[in-house]
Amino acid sequence: MSAVRLLLLALLISAAAIMGCSANSANIYPLPKAYLHYEQLRSRLTEISRQDPNLAQLHVLGFSSTEELPILALQIGKAQAQRNILIIGQHHGDEVLGVELSVALAEELVQKHDKDKLWGQVMDEYRVFIVPTINPEGWKRVCDGEYQFKRKNNRDTNKNGHLDLRSDGVDLNRNYPVFWADQVPVPPGHANFKGERPASETEVQAIMELAQRYHFDLAIFYHSSSTGAFSEKIFLPNRINGDEELGQKLDELLIFAQDYASRVKKDYQKGYYHVGEGNSSRVGNARNFFFHTYQADAFLVELGGINSAGISVVHPNGKMKDKIVTKHLKALRQILSQRAKRK
Ligand SMILES: [Zn+2]
Repeated sequence: MSAVRLLLLALLISAAAIMGCSANSANIYPLPKAYLHYEQLRSRLTEISRQDPNLAQLHVLGFSSTEELPILALQIGKAQAQRNILIIGQHHGDEVLGVELSVALAEELVQKHDKDKLWGQVMDEYRVFIVPTINPEGWKRVCDGEYQFKRKNNRDTNKNGHLDLRSDGVDLNRNYPVFWADQVPVPPGHANFKGERPASETEVQAIMELAQRYHFDLAIFYHSSSTGAFSEKIFLPNRINGDEELGQKLDELLIFAQDYASRVKKDYQKGYYHVGEGNSSRVGNARNFFFHTYQADAFLVELGGINSAGISVVHPNGKMKDKIVTKHLKALRQILSQRAKRK
């Protein structure tokens, strides 16, 4: 075989290896060390709050429904802040990118509010509540390597006396007390099981109490689409036909969300995030609760993209995870500082 042929063969073999490797390692599970794990969350948030105790305080908002795990939040802001923002990194246990992003945002705010002009503008106006996860039960199982796609909490919904990891649990983002009855009921083992009654879950009650106590100007909820059906999109609250005032508010929110989307490049494909078209679902989810109960601007962001092999990557390697976090922080810095200047 000629040297040229040998070289070509070697190239082909390495290309195949790379392609095979990228398909296999698109989603990495168990989660690598680069990801924050359940056991580390409290100490990590404590560490962030200690960097500037006057600015950032750690709170326990409540406890999970079955295992009574704490739902932790960082409150970051100056006493004179006029308005409030809520960031929830996770409702669904397997959607871990939002946990990473929300903790990184907390760190960024604490470390840069007095060094960076735009973050400074945000902190002059806003108090930011960061809740990395409202589903510690689900997330813990994902972190422990027990089940990669543990979405719901750990309620024994089929009432057989023990946890069926793959089917038990309530979908916390269907349990909010708004439009709850509008969702067509599904069996308890279904991924979208909404619970036996509105706000049956203590995780959701903790967020409702927070919403009642603080008027939120803006609430952002991070998710990831493991099927890929919703990847790299932003979803607004449900639009009620005939309600002109709320309709106008949604039109303004659409522009704000589009600004966010247009600043975030897709992970693997060409182009940018975009805002989901058409009316969004009329179910008891967080964005509907905040918008329709408190008229807070609220939307959902789906983190994680589809790679060249068509795989939805929601558990990327550490390097891609960091890239995703960085580009969202950059976009948030821009859109939140502009919003802070708008009265
Ligand atoms: Zn989700």
